[in-house]
Amino acid sequence: LLTVKGLKKSYGAVEVLKDISFDLRRGETLSLIGPSGSGKSTCLRCVNYLEKPSGGEIVLEGEHIGRVRTGDGRERTMTDRELAPQRSEIGMVFQLFYLWPHLTVRDNVALASIKSGRLSKAEAYELAEAMLEKVHLRHKAHEYPERLSGGQQQRVAIARALAQQPKLILFDEPTSALDPELVGEVLGVIRELAEEGRSMILVTHEIRFARDVGDRVIFMDGGVIVEQGPAADVINHPAKERTRAFLGQVG
Ligand code: ATP
Ligand code: MG
Repeated sequence: LLTVKGLKKSYGAVEVLKDISFDLRRGETLSLIGPSGSGKSTCLRCVNYLEKPSGGEIVLEGEHIGRVRTGDGRERTMTDRELAPQRSEIGMVFQLFYLWPHLTVRDNVALASIKSGRLSKAEAYELAEAMLEKVHLRHKAHEYPERLSGGQQQRVAIARALAQQPKLILFDEPTSALDPELVGEVLGVIRELAEEGRSMILVTHEIRFARDVGDRVIFMDGGVIVEQGPAADVINHPAKERTRAFLGQVG
């Protein structure tokens, strides 16, 4: 489904990603783990061109993300406008939920489909309610976000990403802003999506979850992939000392 090849990203002189390559097969869940500052978020943000990579390529179902060929055979970066349809194929869920406080839950989920003109209002609401059902919050459709717990708000954000009908969903530490007792319900929803065969990349500190739900794991440190492989192998039997040290620290 997705191929990332030789991805690089620098901020000024600082190279934050140094040649990241991996594949994601359709229906797979890939977990990205690693210490703070290792480049996990940057890597996710490059995949949907929220950040412009300094080098390398990202190919989703044969389509080069963020790049177009011009008439004379050269390549250039897409404008935001050109990027919009590609971005809508990639859903994103952040640590903080960024719901609109003045809109109901259902409106938050339906907004993008209505604004883009992709669906009529009635269709968008129907889809929104179906996606809220998936995150077990259909009964909250007419509430405002502030009346929901953090875990519920994050599940609304997941429903909003699903409503884009993306080919791929990226999660950046979706549970790390939550009170511990709310983590489980969000992980539960992500687990159901994995079982449903969604294609997902998940940045997480929940190592046990990465092992149990993820098909594959990438361990990053200092902007490089130290190790990648089947989830249980990387986490139960890491090949590299650096991976062992990290896993030892996080328990
Ligand atoms: P965490 O686990 O803390 O979220 P991370 O693995 O997601 O860490 P990134 O946020 O990708 O790490 O950051 C990687 C490095 O890039 C860090 O050293 C960070 O300071 C640097 N960095 C990130 N964004 C920028 C930016 N906009 N400008 C300059 N440096 C940046
Ligand atoms: Mg991060």
